[in-house]
Formats: sequence, C-alpha cells, structure tokens
Amino acid sequence: MIRVQYERGVFLPEKNIWLDPWDPKPFAFVSHAHSDHIAPHGEIIVSERTSRLMRARLAGERTEHVLDFGIPTNVDGLRVTLLPAGHIFGSAQFFLETEADTLLYTGDFKLRPGRSAEAPQWKRADTLIMETTYGLPPYRLPPTDLVVQQIVAFCREALEEGAVPVLLGYSLGKAQEILCSLAEANLRPMLHGSVYRMTRIYEQFGQSFCEYDRYEPDAVEGKVLICPPSANRSRMIQRLTNKRVAMISGWAVEPNAIYRYQVDAAFPLSDHADYADLMRYVELVQPERVLTLHGFAAEFARDLRELSDPDLAAALASGDVGALGELYDRYGSLAFAVAVRVVGDSGRAEDVVQEAFLKVWRSAARFDAQRGSLRGWLLACVRNRAIDSLRGRGAHEQAELELQPELVATGSGSDPWREVSRSLERAAIQEALSSLPPEQRQAIELAYYGGLTQVEISRSLDVPLGTIKTRMRAGLHRLRLLLADTRAAPN
Ligand SMILES: [Zn+2]
Repeated sequence: MIRVQYERGVFLPEKNIWLDPWDPKPFAFVSHAHSDHIAPHGEIIVSERTSRLMRARLAGERTEHVLDFGIPTNVDGLRVTLLPAGHIFGSAQFFLETEADTLLYTGDFKLRPGRSAEAPQWKRADTLIMETTYGLPPYRLPPTDLVVQQIVAFCREALEEGAVPVLLGYSLGKAQEILCSLAEANLRPMLHGSVYRMTRIYEQFGQSFCEYDRYEPDAVEGKVLICPPSANRSRMIQRLTNKRVAMISGWAVEPNAIYRYQVDAAFPLSDHADYADLMRYVELVQPERVLTLHGFAAEFARDLRELSDPDLAAALASGDVGALGELYDRYGSLAFAVAVRVVGDSGRAEDVVQEAFLKVWRSAARFDAQRGSLRGWLLACVRNRAIDSLRGRGAHEQAELELQPELVATGSGSDPWREVSRSLERAAIQEALSSLPPEQRQAIELAYYGGLTQVEISRSLDVPLGTIKTRMRAGLHRLRLLLADTRAAPN
C-alpha cells in the first residue's frame, strides 16, 4: 500500500508530494482555496477554478499544474486524476494510481448537492484519506431545502419588524450558497466587501446569481446583509442599532450554538459532509484502508472500526443488543431471502432467521475472521437451521454451545479501557431496555435473554405472532436509536 505520513498535512514519502500542507512545500496538491488550505508552495497540482481563486487570495509566483476534472494526467511521474469534491467552487479530490494500488484523498468535501459547487464524484480506491469534520453521529444535517426555508423566514420576520437581517457565513462558498438561496425568495442581498469580491470571481466562471448590492453603510435598510463571521464584532455590524444576526454553519446543530456565536439564531447549512454522508462515502469508495483527518477523526475512525466483522462479533459476544440490531440491519433481509428459498414459506423462514441470529449472538465469541466473514457464518447458520426446520427438528433439539454474554465480556481483560467501555455500554443497554414500552421490552428479553423463538414467545404470552414480530422490530429499532444517542453524548 502507498505509504502515508501526516505532519501538518498529508505526505506521501514514496511520491514526494504533500496533500494540503499547512506550510510552504516544494511540491503539493491544493484541494481548494479556503485560507487554511493555501500556502506559497513551489509547485502545485490544482483545479482551474481553485487556481483562479487562489491567485485572488495569495500573491506570488509558483509552478502550477492545472488539471481538468476526471482526466488522468501524468505530473512529474505521478498518474493523477482530480475529481470534484462538492465543497466549494473548484474544490477537488486527488486520485492517485500506481501499478500496485490506488489512493483517494478527499480534501474538504460534501455529498449533498450544492448550488455553488460542482457535483461530487468518486472512484473506488484501496486507500481513502478523508476529512471527518462532522465525524460524530449527532452531526446529521437536516435537508438543505428545509434550512433555506428557515433562513428565508428569519430574514422576512426581521424585515417586517423593521430590523436588518444579518447572515454570517464564510466569504468563499457558504456566502454564495446563501446568496443563491435568497434569490428565489425575492430578498435583496447586500454583500460585505470580501464576500462581494469572491462572488465576482464566481461570476467570471459563469455562475449567475440574483441581483445584489455591495455594502454601503447608508443603504442597508430593507436588505439582507451577508458577511463573514469575523464581521460580527466589526464596526460595520456594531453600528446597526436594530438588527437580527444569524450564523450559518454546520455547527448550528449544537444546542448551545447561539450562545457560542453570540447571535440571535443559527442555521445548520454546511459545505462539509455530515456524519451520515461520511459513512455513506466509505461505502461508495469501498476502501481497504481509511485514514481520517480533521474534526472528530478519532471518533469517526472508531465508528468505522466498529463496523468491521471482528468488532461486531466482539460486541455481540459482550451482549450488545445494538450490535445485534446492526447485524440485523445489514443481513436481515438477505438471511430472510435465503431462508425462504430453502423452506418455501415466509412464516417459517422468519423463525429460521430468528434462530440463526440467536445462534450467532450466543456463539459470537467463537467468531474467527481468518476462517471467513460474519456474513458467511450467519448465512451458513440460516441454511443449516432451514434444513433442520424442513426435517422437522426444533431449535431446542440442537446441541449448541451456549455462552453467557456477561462471562465472555469479562473474560478477556487485556484492554481495561475496552472493558470499561463495554460495561458502560452494557449499562447503557440496560437503561435503554428499561425505557422501552413494557411489551416491546418483554419480547426482546424473552428472545435474547430467554432464548425463545418468536413462535414460542407468541404462544407463551398468548399474543398473535404478527404482533410479537412488530413489537420486536419496533423495540430493536428504538434500542438502536437510544444506543446511538448514548454513544454520541459528550462524556
Ligand atoms: Zn474548506
């Protein structure tokens, strides 16, 4: 695999190239023109639009290799393709091919369609180096349209009260996104000088906006002011006596955002991928190795690792109901399809699937990644149970090695922190279970702690089988949500 180092920027030592280094370097890829990504390097690989924006922000001469999107190009012996990153105008991902393998570096990126950035593209890669600014589960952003509606409503309300609405957003990218959004709402934006300058560059590239004015102190009435966040403490804003100030940022999903930014409102619009899209991106790129950068990189990396088979098996073995839900989400419908094929009847297939998941749950400590995947093991269990079911043997007639989840978890004490977090998770599960409606809790406990099949639960409670299935599905779904919250809560 291509060697990767990190020191205030990504460095590929075998290729002698830096990716978005903070400090000036002889040879670097610059993903986009945000100020934390540009420096006076000697020689750069860059997209055309980023090159143009960069020249507006950074004086000096440098050798530029300006690459078109999507076209593999040889630069100093490297085979490089730039792909749009969807973050801001011109933002690019760096795709490197060697004889042996491939590497994709995202830079800052987002998957949601933006109005002022090229639509993102991707390629499968062996190594994925990605930014994870919002790498924690609570950072799931609402749909853009909804946020825009809220921003427009905020501006209208302020104007009706005779106040000046002020929207704070970064002058490159975010501000143009807001500008486009206001266009359809018939609001008249007035741009802070730095926003104005960047917007003019966008226009030179053929991006069209609504009508807008450049900031003039005496003409703000009836307009919507768009300023960079730093302007919030400036004289320009201070001198407005009647104003409503809103911050436009992905961080607005945090409950205390308005205090943190000292504003009247905060709206979660971001030019970065949110948590759900980060996860989705890993699935799209299908990498063998993921390296994470920025924001909640360590947390996100941990979440990714939790998705691997050995970790999922370990979580199952420790009695983590959330892990069971995860396994079910991934392979439930596949397992059901296999079971139906063997037993030929959906009611019976549901029981077979239930028993197979139960077997994997109970024997998860025996999982050995060297011998095959969790999926393969689960499907083998489904097939065996389905055949047993056809031969008329019940689940309890099979001699199965049963492991007590609690004993397994405390047995391997090599990593105390892992043990502590496991026991906390178990406590969290108990708490999550206790917050379920009693009938859902009862069904889940009978299945996973009592080892009963859905048919047996139905019989023993004298409740129709369909009702039991619904309760379990609803209960597991709720457990998953509760446990996701627990994991995400700060300390
Ligand atoms: Zn950026």
